[in-house]
Amino acid sequence: MIVFPEEVTCALCGASSKQQVLASASAFGAPDLDTRLPGALRKATEYQVQECPACGYCAQHLSAPAGNLKSFVSDMRYRARLEDPESPRLANRYQAPARERDGS
Ligand SMILES: [Zn+2]
Repeated sequence: MIVFPEEVTCALCGASSKQQVLASASAFGAPDLDTRLPGALRKATEYQVQECPACGYCAQHLSAPAGNLKSFVSDMRYRARLEDPESPRLANRYQAPARERDGS
């Protein structure tokens, strides 16, 4: 797995932060019986969604155009899901933006 640090500007709030960017990852073997990815691909999930430390916006690429998501990210439900102490921060990083897709 190849990861490198990169200074990224958040498309939503304009804050700059250092993010770890995944350049490549290889997998050998089959997924686990619980469908978790094998080897390095499992570890790579940590780098597939970036989180802006200033506004909490989570996306695959923070610098990519964010459209009209400012109100979505500042919504209490988004923040509550992102800050949920009952689940790991990485899981929250994936779940908070998912609300946009499922509408819950
Ligand atoms: Zn931001």
